Amino acid sequence: MTQRKNPLILTIDDEENIRDSFRLFLEDFEYDVIEASNGREGIQKIKQDRPDLVLCDLRMPDIDGLEVLQFIKDQGQEIPIIVVSGTGIIGDAIEAIRRGAWNYLLKPIQDMSVLLHAISQALERSRLLSENKAYQEHLEEEVSRRTEALQKTMQELNQSHQKVKDNEEKYRLIFENLQDVYFEFLLDGTIYEISPSISLFSLYQREKILGENISTIFPSTQKRERLMSMLRREGSVTDYEIYLQDSDGTLIPCSLNARYQETAGKNPDKICGTMRDITERKQAEARIEYLAYFDALTELPNRRLLLDRLEQNISRARRHGHYGAMLFLDLDRFKNINDSLGHPIGDALLKEVSKRLTIDLRTEDTVSRLGGDEFVLLLSDLGTDPVNAAAIAQQKAENIQERLAQKYQISEHVLHVTPSIGVAMFPSGEGGTESGNDILRYADTAMYRAKDDGRDTIRFFLPSMQSAADERLAIEKELRYAMEKNELSLFFQPQVEQSGAIIGAETLLRWRHPEKGFISPTIFIPVAEATGLILPIGHWVLKTACKYLKKWTDDGLPVKHLAVNVSPRQFRHPDFVHQVHAIFEETGADPSLLGLELTEGMVIDNVVDTIEKMQALKQLGIELSIDDFGTGYSSLAYLKQMPLDILKIDQSFVRDIASDANDAAIVDTIISMAAHLELKVIAEGVETEFELTFLAGKGCKMFQGYHFSRPVPDAEFTKQLQKGKVF
Ligand code: C2E
Ligand code: CA
Ligand code: CA
Repeated sequence: MTQRKNPLILTIDDEENIRDSFRLFLEDFEYDVIEASNGREGIQKIKQDRPDLVLCDLRMPDIDGLEVLQFIKDQGQEIPIIVVSGTGIIGDAIEAIRRGAWNYLLKPIQDMSVLLHAISQALERSRLLSENKAYQEHLEEEVSRRTEALQKTMQELNQSHQKVKDNEEKYRLIFENLQDVYFEFLLDGTIYEISPSISLFSLYQREKILGENISTIFPSTQKRERLMSMLRREGSVTDYEIYLQDSDGTLIPCSLNARYQETAGKNPDKICGTMRDITERKQAEARIEYLAYFDALTELPNRRLLLDRLEQNISRARRHGHYGAMLFLDLDRFKNINDSLGHPIGDALLKEVSKRLTIDLRTEDTVSRLGGDEFVLLLSDLGTDPVNAAAIAQQKAENIQERLAQKYQISEHVLHVTPSIGVAMFPSGEGGTESGNDILRYADTAMYRAKDDGRDTIRFFLPSMQSAADERLAIEKELRYAMEKNELSLFFQPQVEQSGAIIGAETLLRWRHPEKGFISPTIFIPVAEATGLILPIGHWVLKTACKYLKKWTDDGLPVKHLAVNVSPRQFRHPDFVHQVHAIFEETGADPSLLGLELTEGMVIDNVVDTIEKMQALKQLGIELSIDDFGTGYSSLAYLKQMPLDILKIDQSFVRDIASDANDAAIVDTIISMAAHLELKVIAEGVETEFELTFLAGKGCKMFQGYHFSRPVPDAEFTKQLQKGKVF
C-alpha cells in the first residue's frame, strides 16, 4: 500500500451540500477527502482509490448504501465504513452493521466531534486490524512452512525407521552369530550388553555376566584403568590387548576394539566395542619371536638375541664399572665328524655340546649358538677388577674345555671333540665405545689365535689380559698353599706421635713367594677376597697378631695398640665376632690393645647389621677405625651413628698436601670433622717433614708412614718397641 500523508476518506452521498460540509470539515483536520454522489460511483472509487475510510449514506438512488456495504464485504476488504444515514429506522441500522458497517451515525450530525471521534476510532481499529492481519498472515505462513518441514521429516523418519528396523534385524543376526564378542560397558564398568559369542571362547554365558563388573572378566586393574583412560582421552582404542580371565581361572589373551559413546537423552554413556580371542595369534607371534631369537636345533639364543643381551651387558658394565667376558667357542675338527658320520650325528653332537655348555650357567649369563659349530658364552658382572674378571673368565673357559673334552656317546658312536676358545673382555678401553659386534669380533679373533696355537686352547684377545689372567690364576693356585708352606708373615708399621714416640703399629701381611719374592698384598688380597681364601687367611692374621700382642706384653714391652686390617668378606661373615672372641680366649691377648681397621664401603652397606657388629666388638674392648678415610662415600650422618674411635686419613690426600690445595683443604676438613665427632685422627703415608708439619699444624697428633718407618718384621719392630721411638 502506498504511504499516504493523510488518511483518505471517501464520502458517498447523493446530497451535494452534505458532501461539501463533510469535506470542508474533514480537510480542516488533515484528512484528504474524495467524493461519490451515488453507490455505483462509490464502488468505483473504492476499487480505484482504496480509501482508508468510507462515509456512506444508506438511501441513495440506483445502488444504495447497503449494496455498497455488501460489495465491500464480498470483496473481503477491510475498509472501515461508517454509515451516515437520515433514516432513523432501527432495522436499517441493524442491517447495515450486519453487512459490515463499523459505525452508524444519524443525519444531520448535530455534533461534528462525534463524527471526528468515530472516524479516528475506526481508523485506529482498522490499523490494528491490518497489523493483526499481517501478523496473522505471517504466522500462517510460518505455520505452513513448518508444517511442511515437519511432514518432510516425518516422511524421512518413517523411511529411516524402516531402515533401522532392517538394520536392527541385520545387527541382531550379526550379534547372535558373531565370532567376535560385541559388548557395551557402562562407565562404571558394568557389563551392559555382551553377545552370546562370549561362550565361544570362554566358559561364560551371556546371561551370567550381564550386569557384572568388567573386573570379573578382566582381572588386571592396571589394564582396565589404562583402557578407560585411553577411551576417555582418545575416544577409541584399536587392538588393545588384555587378558580375559575365564570362570575357571584360565587367562585368554584378547584384543579389544572399542569406542566411547556419548548417548543423547537419559541413556547413560557407554563403551561399545568388540573383543576377539587372540590365543592363536599370540602363539604364532611367540613362535615367530622364538624363531627370531633362538636357534631351532639347540634351542639356545641365536646371534641376534646374543647381540641384544651383549649390548645391554656392555652398557650395564659401563654404568656400574664392572667387567664382563665373551667366550667364543669353536669345536675342533667338527667338520670331519659331520662329513664322515653324517649330519644327524653332527646335529646330535651339537645338541649334546649345548647341554654341557648350559650346565651350572648363572641366570645372568647367556650361551648362544651362532650357527655351525660356533658357540658363545656371555659372562656378565665379573666384578670391578679387570684382572680378577679375566681370571674368572679364564677359569670358566678351562672348566668348559674340560667338560667338552669328555667323551660323547651318540648312537653307536663314541666321539671326542675339543674346543678352541677365544676370550674378549668388556668394556675393553676407558670410556670404551666398542659395540657388541666389536666384542664378538675380538672374541672371534682370539678364537682363531687359539686354533693357530694348536687347538684345544684358550686365548685372550688382549695379550695384557692373557698374562694378567694367567698370573692371577697362578697366584690363586699358589695362595692356597702359601699358608701351609709358611710363606705368609706379618710386618708391623709403627704408629707414632710427631716426636717419633711409638704409640702402636699396623699389622701388614706379607707373602714371601719361593720364586717370585715378596708379593704385594694389593695383588693377593683381592684374589683372596674373590676366592674366599681371605677367611682362613684373615683368621690366621688376627690370631698371629694376638699372639704377638700377648708375647710383647708378657715381655714387658710398652705396646699400646696393634691395628689389624679386616676385609669386607671377613667382616660380613656371620661368625666374625664370635671368631674374634675365640681368638682372645685362645691367645690370652688383651682385647683393649687390639684395633680393627674397617673401610668405608664395609660400614656403609647394611648399616644396621654393621652397627650391631661394631657394638659387639666394642664390647670386647676393641678399638675401631675407618681406614682410607675420604676415598669412599661416607656421610657424616652415618659415621655419627657408628661406634668408631679413629679416622685414618688416606695416604692419597697426604701425598698431595704440598701440591693440591684441594687435598690440603680436605685434610683440614677431615681433622676438624673428627674433632667434632670426638674421634682420634691418624694420618697414614706420611713421607716427608713437610707433610708432618702441615698435618701437625692442623691438629693431627698421630702418624704412620715411611717418614718414621717402613713396615718391618717382628724382630725389628720389637727393637723399636724397646727403644720406645723410631728415631
Ligand atoms: P692399607 O691398610 O692402607 O695399608 C697401608 C699401606 O700403605 C701398606 O701397604 C703400607 O706398606 C703402605 N704405606 C705405609 N706408609 C707408607 C708411606 O709412607 N708411603 C707409601 N707409599 N706407602 C706407605 P701394603 O703393606 O702393601 O698393604 C696394602 C694394602 O693391603 C693395605 O692397605 C691393606 O688394604 C691390605 N692389607 C695388608 N695386610 C692386610 C691384612 O692382613 N688383611 C687385609 N684384609 N688386608 C691387608
Ligand atoms: Ca690399613
Ligand atoms: Ca689405609
